[in-house]
Amino acid sequence: MANIIRQRNGLTEPAQTDFDLRIEQTIRPKQLEDYIGQSQLKETIRISLDAAKQRSEPLDHILLYGPPGLGKTTMALVLAAEMEADIHITSAPALERPRDIVGLLMALKPGSIIFIDEIHRLNKVTEEILYPAMEDFALDRTLGKGHMTKTLRVPLPKFTLIGATTKAGSISSPLRDRFGIVYRLNFYTIEELVQIVMRSATILNIQITGEGAEAIARRSRGTPRIANRLLRRVRDYVQVRRGPEEGIEVSSAEEALDLFEIDRMGLDPTDRLLLSKIIESFGGGPVGIETLAAAIGEDIRTIEDIYEPFLMQAGMLQRTPRGRMVTPKAYQHIFPGVTPPQSSALQQSLPLEPLS
Ligand code: ADP
Repeated sequence: MANIIRQRNGLTEPAQTDFDLRIEQTIRPKQLEDYIGQSQLKETIRISLDAAKQRSEPLDHILLYGPPGLGKTTMALVLAAEMEADIHITSAPALERPRDIVGLLMALKPGSIIFIDEIHRLNKVTEEILYPAMEDFALDRTLGKGHMTKTLRVPLPKFTLIGATTKAGSISSPLRDRFGIVYRLNFYTIEELVQIVMRSATILNIQITGEGAEAIARRSRGTPRIANRLLRRVRDYVQVRRGPEEGIEVSSAEEALDLFEIDRMGLDPTDRLLLSKIIESFGGGPVGIETLAAAIGEDIRTIEDIYEPFLMQAGMLQRTPRGRMVTPKAYQHIFPGVTPPQSSALQQSLPLEPLS
C-alpha cells in the first residue's frame, strides 16, 4: 500500500477548505485505469511503469505542466499507488530553507516519490541541492568554513521526483534537463469531462442523466477539478430548489449554471470582465499584462495561470509580443450580433506566442 505524506502550506490548494479536500480525495482516481483522458501521457507512463517494475528500479523523474486542476497531483498519486511507493507531497514555497529539502531527501526510502508542486518557484540554493540528488542520488554536504571547507558526498536511496508547474517556461534549464519525462497536460474534451462527472456522481451517490452531465462538462473550462466542483454545486441547487429526491437533469443543471453566472462557453464573470475590458478600454488590445491586471483588479499570476490558458484555448485571446489581444470570436461572444469595428486591433492577426 502506498503511504502518503502530505506537507501542506495552504498555497497548493488556495481556494479549498478541508471538507473540499476530503471530497477531492474521495473522487480522485487511484489507478491508471481510472485516470480519464490524457491518453498519450498514460501510454508513456504505462511503458515507464512496466519497465521500472521489471527492472525493480524507481521511475524516471517526471515533470508535468499545465493549468491548475488538470490532474498533475492525481497522476503523481496514481504513480505512487502503481509503484506501491511512499509519496511525499510538498510545494516549492514550503522548501524555502536548505534544511527543508535536505530533511525531505534524508527521509526517503528506496523507491520513494517526492511530488513538488509549483516547482518553478524553487529558489536557487534548493535547486542546486536537487541537481546531484536527481542525477547521482547523492547529497553534497559542505563541512567547515572558509579555506577549511570540505564537501562530503552522502549517498541517497534511489527515488523519483515528480515536479508540477503551471509555467514550464519559468523552470531553469539545468533543472528541466534532469527530468526524464516532460509532459504537458491538455485540457479535457467534453466527452472526457462527461465521464469524469458520471464517475464522480456515482462515487458521491448523486443521480444525474447523461445530458445533465454534459451540461456541466460543457461549462467546466476543460478542467476536471471545475467539473467536480460544478457537479456538487449543481447538486446543492437541485436539492434545495427541486427537492432532496430529485436527480440532476439538463434543465436543472443549466438553470443552476446560469444562476452561478457561468455562461455556455464556460466563461465566468472574471473571464467576461477581462475580455470586455480589453475591448472597451483598450480597443481590443494589445495591452500589457500589468495594465490589464490593474484595470480588472486581478493578480497577474491568477490571470496568467487560470484565465489566459483557457481563453487562449477557446480561441478568444491571443498573447502577442506587444501584449494581450482579444479575437473576433471573443468580441462576438461578449457583444453578440455586433460587428467588430474596422479600425480596431480585432481585425489584425498577429503572430501567436507559445504558451509558457
Ligand atoms: P492539479 O494537480 O493539476 O492542479 P489535481 O490532480 O489536483 O490537479 O486534480 C483536481 C481534481 O480533478 C482531482 O481531485 C480529481 O478528482 C480530478 N481529476 C483530475 N484529473 C483527472 C482525471 N484524469 N480523471 C478523473 N479525475 C481527474
